[in-house]
Amino acid sequence: MRPKIAAGNWKMNGTAAALCELDALSRALPENPPQVVICPPSPLLFRATDAVHGCPIQIGAQDCHTEEAGAFTGDISATMIADTGATHVILGHSERRDTHCETDADVQAKARTAWTSGLTAIICIGESNAQREAGETLDIIGAQLDGSLPDDVTADNTVIAYEPIWAIGTGKVPSIAQITEVHDFIRSRLTTRFGTEIGNALPLLYGGSVKASNATEIFAVENVDGALVGGASLKADDFAPIVAAL
Ligand code: PEP
Repeated sequence: MRPKIAAGNWKMNGTAAALCELDALSRALPENPPQVVICPPSPLLFRATDAVHGCPIQIGAQDCHTEEAGAFTGDISATMIADTGATHVILGHSERRDTHCETDADVQAKARTAWTSGLTAIICIGESNAQREAGETLDIIGAQLDGSLPDDVTADNTVIAYEPIWAIGTGKVPSIAQITEVHDFIRSRLTTRFGTEIGNALPLLYGGSVKASNATEIFAVENVDGALVGGASLKADDFAPIVAAL
């Protein structure tokens, strides 16, 4: 049985005042909530882990460096993230692949360093609109999986998030048939490479314009184990109904 996971990516949004949303979210969670992970900006990590102490909410970062320490001005390491009490780190988000030119090899190296620090890597993959229109979606997803996932991936150290770039922050959501096709493809690629036990155990999230109004039908797709949510994770009032739909 794979865990159900609702992960929120706050991106570069929120100051300390936003941490009240964590308290509101914890009060709004259903009785037996799925796994909930909120990824605030890195300056908030320490305070966020304090804020969720005793609540069924985990905290994650949005990126880490490939190295544990050194002369990398402005970067943060997996060791530093773990030191805040955070348990997860998002890696290879399309915004970082785009604006920071991150490659699959970078993502794979970051996953290894995240694991060394005991963090779970949430590894993002997804095609652009042009790639989808050119009929290249499955080739792109396959190549990203091959390049971004280290060989010793397990269901304890990794979560995969399929996020079509054209659906992120746009309000455009793929059809259920499109989500089903890609998630089935990813599952089959994982079982082929890692074997049925690990391949079937790896949680697979969908991300891209998930909101309360579309969450239920997306979560009904067999190989969707939850969501990575951007905009609708900023406010507890928007995120709690998505969590409840899982
Ligand atoms: C994201 O940034 O990972 C994301 C899915 O954003 P949104 O939910 O806003 O589309």
